[in-house]
Amino acid sequence: MVSRPENMRPAIVGSMIVGLVEGCALAALLPTVTALAEDGPVWGLGLAGWLWILGILAVLSFGLNYLSERTNYAVALDFLRSLHRLVGDQVAKQPLGWFARPIAGALSRMVSSELMSAGEIFAHMFGPLVSRSTAAFVIIVAAWFWDPALGAILTVAVPVFVFITLASTALLRRGRAIHEPPEVTLANRIVEYAQCQGAIRSCDRSDDYRPLSQALDEARAAKTKGLWLESVGMLLSGMVTQGVVVVLITVTGTLAVDGALEPIPAMAFIGLALRFTSTLSAITSSAMALESRRPLLDGLDDVLTATPLPEPGAPATLTAPGAVELENVTFTYPGKPAPALQNVSMTVPAGSMVALVGPSGGGKTTVARVISRFYDVDSGRVLVGGVPVTEQTTEQLMGQLSMVFQDVYLFDDTLEANVRVGRADATDEEVREAADLAGVREIAERLPEGWGTQVGEGGRGLSGGERQRVAIARALLKKAPIVLLDEATSALDIENESNIIAAVERLREQATVIIIAHRLATIAGADKIVAIDADGRVEAQGTHEELLAVDGTYARFWHRLESAQGWQLTN
Ligand code: ADP
Repeated sequence: MVSRPENMRPAIVGSMIVGLVEGCALAALLPTVTALAEDGPVWGLGLAGWLWILGILAVLSFGLNYLSERTNYAVALDFLRSLHRLVGDQVAKQPLGWFARPIAGALSRMVSSELMSAGEIFAHMFGPLVSRSTAAFVIIVAAWFWDPALGAILTVAVPVFVFITLASTALLRRGRAIHEPPEVTLANRIVEYAQCQGAIRSCDRSDDYRPLSQALDEARAAKTKGLWLESVGMLLSGMVTQGVVVVLITVTGTLAVDGALEPIPAMAFIGLALRFTSTLSAITSSAMALESRRPLLDGLDDVLTATPLPEPGAPATLTAPGAVELENVTFTYPGKPAPALQNVSMTVPAGSMVALVGPSGGGKTTVARVISRFYDVDSGRVLVGGVPVTEQTTEQLMGQLSMVFQDVYLFDDTLEANVRVGRADATDEEVREAADLAGVREIAERLPEGWGTQVGEGGRGLSGGERQRVAIARALLKKAPIVLLDEATSALDIENESNIIAAVERLREQATVIIIAHRLATIAGADKIVAIDADGRVEAQGTHEELLAVDGTYARFWHRLESAQGWQLTN
């Protein structure tokens, strides 16, 4: 999944050395206590000698622990850095359609708080797990060496521990699997409740919003059930530590009473066994903490293994710059049963303006999306500049397109900087000229600090129509050969409308324009109209006059639009 940080190996070796020294220090207790009790040398070394060894091991263990912690933190930081870079690279490579998936919504939480806790795995869990396991191993070996009966007792304790640990982590996981999904649903309902306050209040439903109260009940029930399982898991792991201690003390005491063990070494062994069990339970808690991070790593895996759309290494040679063509395109959104576009064919010659018209939900925006390669189509081909989009690099394709969609996002920067996004190296005059054409000057004049006014996150300080004007100014400035424009009538007031008409006229002079059209004047003025029906099929295409002449859906659509907009005007 993630490449291993460079200093991973030294960190693991460091943790093992720490464990080794700690294990030796604990094991040295046995000969030290025996030397004290018998008042004679053990293995040729007197009490003073053993005390020296204990002291040296203690100091060494302290120093090494410090160094190992530092290495573990370095690994954690390294891991975080490379993960951030990897996630960034992956996200940048994804097609724009990927961001409509739920995973993209969780991305910001993942990159900020969740990755930090992934870093903790290395800082606080992985190193201790390695060092304690090593220490436990050293203690067992020392016990066997000292007295095979004692070695056997400790050895038997290990599988019991492992088994109980596995059982209790399984219970914890089961518990989490029960309460986490309803909690996620609840969080979504709360967001929905906050975001839809306008609609909810207008229906007088703010006191009793059924989806929220239902999600609350479900989350509460699931939490209770999940907590039961989790508590049993915790209890089991706590009980087993105490149980093993009791068994060790009982067995050692019995051996001492029977005369199989000397009383003093038996007591030293009980001390050692106590440390051994606390080491084992520390291993258990590290393992459980690691387990609790598993969903997080799985989530990261989803991002890191998302496959970007394939693209060539080098840009292709464009054979028809400015032209767009769809050849028999069928496209289904991921997870949707029915296709959004069916056998759509249309040609947009360079420099022309094509209006896409049709009922809401028919697939007009989807046409713009497949041209921008938000998604790859199921069948057929999409050609931009004469070359299939699949044979172009993302940079090449995006370089040819300007997109002015309904959901315009402005950066939390000044008005001027937001226009300049269109082309970073544009001169001040060019920026002003584009802004003038799109009617952004009027916005600047109205705002307290003119061009230097901060527009707020996403452009909150501006109305929908104003944001769209800024987007059009960007497109004018970018001078991309092809402009995809969604003429959002809902966002337009009279002032906006006249500005946008003028800007679209200018865009027509410098680029091919594919416009999702709602206004009569735009539709009638287009070089070609492509009428898309409710099922995502091209129903007819041609000029306004041609389409009116065949008395089909387009004619009916036109007359309905005419009476609606006409009514607005005379009113
Ligand atoms: P139009 O622009 O003509 O109103 P769209 O292209 O937005 O229509 O939508 C065409 C169809 O595709 C609709 O049925 C819509 O529900 C569906 N659709 C649009 N966007 C998505 C999406 N991101 N994921 C799944 N389905 C979508």
